[in-house]
Amino acid sequence: MNSRMPHALTIDAEDWSAVMCAYAGREIPASPQFGSTIHHLLDLLDEHQVRATFFVVAKHAADAPEPIRAIVACGHELASHGWAHAKAKTFAAAAYREDLHRNVQTLQDLTGQRIFGHRAPFFSVTPADTKGAEAAGALEAAADEGLEYDSSIATLLWHRLGYSIPDQPFVFKLPSGATLVEFPIPARKVGPLTVRLIGGRGIRLAPASVCLGHLRDLEQAGLPAMMYVHSYEIARDRLAAGVPRSIGRHRLAIAAAACGFEVGRGRMVRLVRRMLADHRWAPAHDVIARLRDESRLLTFEWPRPA
Ligand SMILES: [Zn+2]
Repeated sequence: MNSRMPHALTIDAEDWSAVMCAYAGREIPASPQFGSTIHHLLDLLDEHQVRATFFVVAKHAADAPEPIRAIVACGHELASHGWAHAKAKTFAAAAYREDLHRNVQTLQDLTGQRIFGHRAPFFSVTPADTKGAEAAGALEAAADEGLEYDSSIATLLWHRLGYSIPDQPFVFKLPSGATLVEFPIPARKVGPLTVRLIGGRGIRLAPASVCLGHLRDLEQAGLPAMMYVHSYEIARDRLAAGVPRSIGRHRLAIAAAACGFEVGRGRMVRLVRRMLADHRWAPAHDVIARLRDESRLLTFEWPRPA
């Protein structure tokens, strides 16, 4: 690989409290922790002179537009991450299209920046069954919305269902004939487990040497990694601090859930800093453009299960 090829750095920007309250059936606006954490992240990226892609939950952006405009002002890429952080499979096909359109429109209206990419919450674009119709519908919707790429596929789930799709960015030729670049999240076997190592829980919980080893191996193979970090994982305050008292009896359950999300956050920040310092990073859209310029984006037909 050309040694200057960067890895993709992506931030899933969502307010932890608002997401958890929504799961408990209570809709609340994004907490002040959402904005303060985004600004903390912007400072961290500036310190390392790194630009990233922020996949933003559009409802939280509408609640707190100032930090979202700051993301754009600092030169980062803005991308879509669902209106209210619901899994792709919770929508009927038409509702998924409406949700995606609302996300993209909201983010573009708030900032004036064109949106090129989308990531479904929880990497939840999966074949669901061996016919793959649900995933095809979600990706066709992204192509019809005028997006250039999607990053909603965890290849592990596809491989388990017998689909042989690549672990690296590729052009997906969809059943309608439309095309969309997919930048998937690869996984790797560690002992008896298959885990995603360069993101989220993988960075929080796996040994640093294993995560760094995966990154090094990708570089040696000439492949760009896709790193993802949730904004709340970098928050300076404890997550439960953002949950309002007004939500009543759900508060205790959400505070208890926060304990699990707190595990490994300190070491994650140290490891992310090390990765930012030692490797080259860019927004996902830039990495895709670079691969396209170098004619390294291969096209794959919509796969049939093996
Ligand atoms: Zn998310």
